[in-house]
Amino acid sequence: GSVAVVLGTRPELVKLAPLIHELGPATRLVHTGQHWDEAMSGRFLRDLGLPRPELLTGVGGRPRAGQIAQSLGQLDAAFAEDRPAAVVVQGDTNATLAGALAANARNIPLVHVEAGLRSFDRAMPEEHNRVMVDHVADLLCAATPDNAANLRAESLAEERIALTGNTVVEVVRRSLPDAAARAALLAGHGLTADGYVLATVHRPENTDTAEALGAVLAELDRIARAGTPVLFPMHPRTRAAVERFALDGLLARLAVTGPVGYADFLGLARHAALLVSDSGGVQEECTVLGRPLLVVRRSTERPEAVAAGFAALVAPGAELGDRARAWLSDTPERLARLAAAPSPYGDGLASARIAELTARLVRRGAEPLPL
Ligand code: UDP
Repeated sequence: GSVAVVLGTRPELVKLAPLIHELGPATRLVHTGQHWDEAMSGRFLRDLGLPRPELLTGVGGRPRAGQIAQSLGQLDAAFAEDRPAAVVVQGDTNATLAGALAANARNIPLVHVEAGLRSFDRAMPEEHNRVMVDHVADLLCAATPDNAANLRAESLAEERIALTGNTVVEVVRRSLPDAAARAALLAGHGLTADGYVLATVHRPENTDTAEALGAVLAELDRIARAGTPVLFPMHPRTRAAVERFALDGLLARLAVTGPVGYADFLGLARHAALLVSDSGGVQEECTVLGRPLLVVRRSTERPEAVAAGFAALVAPGAELGDRARAWLSDTPERLARLAAAPSPYGDGLASARIAELTARLVRRGAEPLPL
């Protein structure tokens, strides 16, 4: 059998793309349909140079247990018909957990890319997904020393842990448009390099209540009113929440678009004076692009960008606004400092290392590793 890569959302496509290229053309790509639509997935496949995946019946919009159960059943049937030599999953989504459980149920060696992330926030379903996947995986690919330390603190065997770096470094380097294309992109949006804010929000903590979403949008509105353009590519969940809570008025001064393709997003992020986001991936991308980021979240499983001076954690209201104004007031110095700072996420060889370790795991076969 070949190596099967199981995924279900946009960030998984991004992070796994360089590894899928490394693993080679025999790799089997299975998409659970957790987030599947043209803007969020089809376009991403093209941007990342990926083949069309085997697409399982969409599970999007269903409650968590139903998503996991349906994907698990479908993956089990797919693996029964054509047994993979190993299963690779990444991150912390319901698709990640379903892929891990499907591999575990058939005793297929399991690789977890980005193992050992911990927010220590047990109110987040993603935190539970991470812990469960790490504890069944045979190969735990820790992106940073902190991530490896989290795995050791849970008594996971040293034989299962590898420090690989994060594939984000290579995917950003490969997908970032060249300088001429970026200049055209900015011109198309009427933006000037180092002269605008790029913002995205979509996590439940910022979109589930009118108070939280209203607080974020009010601060973005204030920044725009003070004269800094704010580009706001809106996630489908956020658009639905804006309508539900009747917050459209706060969008009037923002440059609102739908989700943008990956290359365009990187190009726009590369020249932003400030990024504002609750995304996990953007917390890593900002360190490769050398751009400051305000993380609108109460906790993060990615402390490295904060420790390295690229990012700060802020609450949705006044704290976001105050910090944004402070950071925008010394943009040239901040950008110069960050341009010289190394990314804490590695050297751009993570996917090559993970592919090599996966091949080794396949050669080893299904004999269980130590606890
Ligand atoms: N992204 C994108 N277009 C957008 C917004 C985000 O390409 O309009 C990218 C972003 O660079 C990151 C990924 O999508 O790599 C983040 O996905 P998301 O925020 O959905 O998930 P998270 O990273 O929070 O798990």
